[in-house]
Amino acid sequence: MPRCGQPISPGKRRLPVDDAQHAFWTGYVRDLADSLGLKDWDISIWRDVTNSGIGGRITCVSGRKQGCIELGHSFFQSSPDQQRHILIHELLHCHLDPIDTAICHAKAHNDSETIAVLHSTVHTEIEFAVDGITAAIASRYPVPDTS
Ligand SMILES: [Zn+2]
Repeated sequence: MPRCGQPISPGKRRLPVDDAQHAFWTGYVRDLADSLGLKDWDISIWRDVTNSGIGGRITCVSGRKQGCIELGHSFFQSSPDQQRHILIHELLHCHLDPIDTAICHAKAHNDSETIAVLHSTVHTEIEFAVDGITAAIASRYPVPDTS
């Protein structure tokens, strides 16, 4: 498992923000995490991003309350409302990561078509649930003020 702040694959570029901006996003995410029931989680933001067009992605460390958020280039072209949505969405994944991890382990030990379908279905339904909850609650949280 790569550590936060270190490149995880070739083709990555430096985060297009300076240290002060990185500190801002780290603080903003910390405040959101505290409000979303993740006070005892260590949440970090990657310094490198992909060109994949994703808004964001979180990697949770199995067996630890630790998550690393990777921001995509499109995140920085998004509105403050969209940025808040992306970050809340990624943070909510922390609560459901044990389910995702369990089904991934089942798939790793059983390559049956049934497990593959279950894995795909659970992953898709987690995305719908996380995004639906995010849409329902995002307006309760402040938008990032980068001015
Ligand atoms: Zn998601």
